[in-house]
Parts: sequence; C-alpha cells; structure tokens
Amino acid sequence: MDVQVEEEIKNDKLLGEKKDCEYYPCHFEGQDCTWCFCPFYPCQDGRTGGGLTIGMLSGKLVWGCGSCVWIHRHDVALFILESIHKIMKREKSLSNSHLLKLREEALKAFPP
Ligand code: SF4
Repeated sequence: MDVQVEEEIKNDKLLGEKKDCEYYPCHFEGQDCTWCFCPFYPCQDGRTGGGLTIGMLSGKLVWGCGSCVWIHRHDVALFILESIHKIMKREKSLSNSHLLKLREEALKAFPP
C-alpha cells in the first residue's frame, strides 16, 4: 500500500478542508482532503468520475482522478475511514480484496 495512504489511515477523524494546501481546492470548495492519496488508486472505475488520461510527465495513458469528486465528499470520506478502521481492527491488515469490497460498498451506499 502507498506510504501516503498508510499515513492517512492513521487519522482517527476526517481532515476536512486543508485550506493551507497550495492546491486547495483541487476539486471543489468545501471538499474533504482526508483522501488526498486515494486508497483505491488506480480504481479504473469510471463510476467515480475518474478516467484514463495522458500523463503530463510520462505522456502515457494513466488513470486520472481530476474529475473524481466522490472521494472528497464528507459522507464518503467518513464512511471509508471508519470502514478501514473496522477492517484493520478485525483483520489486522488491509488487503486489495478488502479495498475492492469496500469501494463497492461505498459506491452503493453513496452513489456518485
Ligand atoms: S477516480 Fe476517485 S476513487 Fe478512483 S482512484 Fe481516483 S480518486 Fe480514487
């Protein structure tokens, strides 16, 4: 798992709006910045708003999250944080299959 995501998971509550970030608001005013580094990356699931794009540095086709506002909604961000904490408490680890299942549950509970 991405090191930044591991750090985000250590938060016991949502980060909220990180207005001191030079990129704020990178998606929308009032966004939640807890999942700046998305635990589902690269989800390759267009339902979230993300999509394939040409990478600025690589010039290659990459998964782009610029149009995904879903993960930055407070209700979605909280559901994901609390769910991950429950999984970690129960299983002591977080696998890709846990994340896949969680993403489906979150998309169902909080449609984009
Ligand atoms: S599109 Fe959204 S949910 Fe998918 S990886 Fe990017 S930020 Fe995460």
